[in-house]
Amino acid sequence: MSPMFEYAPAPESRAVVDIAPSYGLFVDGEFREAAGGRSFKTLSPSTEEVLAEVAHAGAEDVDAAVAAARRAFASWSALPGSERAKYLFRIARIIQERSRELAVLETLDNGKPIRETRDADLPLVAAHFFYHAGWADKLAHAGYGPDPRPLGVAAQVIPWNFPLLMLAWKVAPALACGNTVVLKPAETTPLSALFFADVCRQAGLPGGVVNILTGDGSTGAALVAHEGVDKVAFTGSTAVGKQIARTVAGTRKKLTLELGGKGANIVFDDAPIDQAVEGIVNGIYFNQGQVCCAGSRLLVQESVQDELLEALRRRLSTLRVGDPLDKNTDVGAINSAEQLARITELADSGEAEGAERWSPACELPERGFWFAPTVFTNVTQAHRIAREEIFGPVLSVLSFRTPDEAVAKANNSQYGLSAGVWTEKGSRILAMANRLRAGVVWANTFNKFDPTSPFGGYRESGFGREGGRHGLEAYLDV
Ligand code: NAD
Repeated sequence: MSPMFEYAPAPESRAVVDIAPSYGLFVDGEFREAAGGRSFKTLSPSTEEVLAEVAHAGAEDVDAAVAAARRAFASWSALPGSERAKYLFRIARIIQERSRELAVLETLDNGKPIRETRDADLPLVAAHFFYHAGWADKLAHAGYGPDPRPLGVAAQVIPWNFPLLMLAWKVAPALACGNTVVLKPAETTPLSALFFADVCRQAGLPGGVVNILTGDGSTGAALVAHEGVDKVAFTGSTAVGKQIARTVAGTRKKLTLELGGKGANIVFDDAPIDQAVEGIVNGIYFNQGQVCCAGSRLLVQESVQDELLEALRRRLSTLRVGDPLDKNTDVGAINSAEQLARITELADSGEAEGAERWSPACELPERGFWFAPTVFTNVTQAHRIAREEIFGPVLSVLSFRTPDEAVAKANNSQYGLSAGVWTEKGSRILAMANRLRAGVVWANTFNKFDPTSPFGGYRESGFGREGGRHGLEAYLDV
C-alpha cells in the first residue's frame, strides 16, 4: 500500500553535537587513557560510519575506578541529603539544557529515531534526576527506617537499548541515597555516558562520585567481581544476569537484576480497536522492539482477531522506516550487526516452524542495520518466536477465547516483566492485573514510564525494582 502522504526530508542537524575523535575513561573526575592502551570503535548503526574511538578498560582501570569511588564515598555519603540534592537538581537542569545535543548523540550512536530520543528518552532522563533529587533529603520518610544508610560503591552495568535512560535509572537513585558509582555502558553505545561524564563536571560533582568505564563484557565481568564493590546493579540479557548472580553469590554484595522479557499485550473484544492498534504498535515497534518490556506477544480475542489484524496491517503500512535523524521517522536502525543477525535468525525460525510472516512494503537503506516491522500469525505457544525474546520489531500473534485462556497463555513464559490489557471494563482490568505474573501491567496503554513508578520483573526477568520509593531500597542498607 502506498503512503497517503509523501514526506519531505526533515533531518535534525547533527552539527548541534561535537563528537571527539577519541574518548578516555572517566575516573576520579578526569578523562584518562586505558592503562593497557586498548580502545574500540563505536559505529552509527544507520550508516556504519565510525563515530569515535573509545578506551577499553581492563582490570587495572577497574581497580582505579573502584578506588576512586571508595575515596569519594566518605565525603559524599557524609553530605546532608539537601546538599546531594543540589547536585542532582543541577545535573537534571544541565541535561534539560543540553537535551538537543544529547538526543542527536543518542540517535547517532544507537540508531533509534530522533523523535524518540527527543520526546521520550531525554525528558525521562531529566525526570529521573529531578525525582531522585527530591528524595535525597527525605530518605528518613521513605519507609526504610529513621536513618537509612547508603551501601557504598555501586557497580552498574547497562545495555544499549536506552543508553542514557538506563544510566539515569541507575545513577540517580544511587547518588540520591549517598552511594558512589562505577558505571559501564554497553560497548555499542558508550557516547552518551561519556557526555554525561562531562555533565557531572559541569555540575561540579566531586571527583570519584561518578566514574565511567567503557569496555565490553570482560570489563563488566571484572567490575562486578571486584571485591571493593558493595552493590551490583545490572540491566541486560538473562544469560549474563545468571552469570553475574553466580559471581555475586556468597559475597556481601547486594544485587538487582533487570533482564529480558516476552510481554503479552492482551486485547479483549470490547476494546476500542483503533486505540489498541496504536498501543500494539507502540508496544513492539517503539525503539525497533529492542525493549525488554516490549509487547512482543499479541493475544487477541478470537472474535475480533480478523478486524484487529486488518487495522494493524493498515497502520503498519504507514510507518516510516529509515534515517533515524529524520524527524518523520517512526522506525530506525537495529543497534548492531550482531543484534540484526539474532533477529533474523529468530524470524527465520518462525517461518520454518510454520508461522505466517508479513511485513509492510518498505524500502530499507542499503548501508546500516535494518529490519522491516514484521507480524507473525498462525503462531503456537510452542514456536520459538512465542517463547524466546527476539528484541526486535517482530510481533507474534496468538488468539484466545476466554479470560482464563488469556491469563494461562500470557503467564506461559519463563519471563515476567510486562503485560498490557485492552478492554472497556474496569473490573476486568483489575481481575487480569491480579492474575498476570508481570512486574508491570498497563491498562489501555503500553510502554508508559515514570520515575515515580517502580519497574522490574518476576522469574527470569530478574529481581529488584527501579524507580519510585521501592527503587530506593536497592541502594540503602536496610
Ligand atoms: P548483554 O547482557 O549482552 O549486555 C548488557 C551489558 O552487560 C553490556 O554492557 C555488556 O558489555 C555487559 N556484559 C556482557 N557480558 C558480561 C559479563 N559476563 N559480566 C558483566 N557484564 C557483562 O545484553 P545486550 O544484548 O546488550 O542487551 C539486550 C538485553 O538486555 C535483552 O535481553 C533485554 O531484554 C535486556 N534488557 C533488559 C532491561 C530491563 O530493564 N529488564 C532493559 C533493557 C534491556
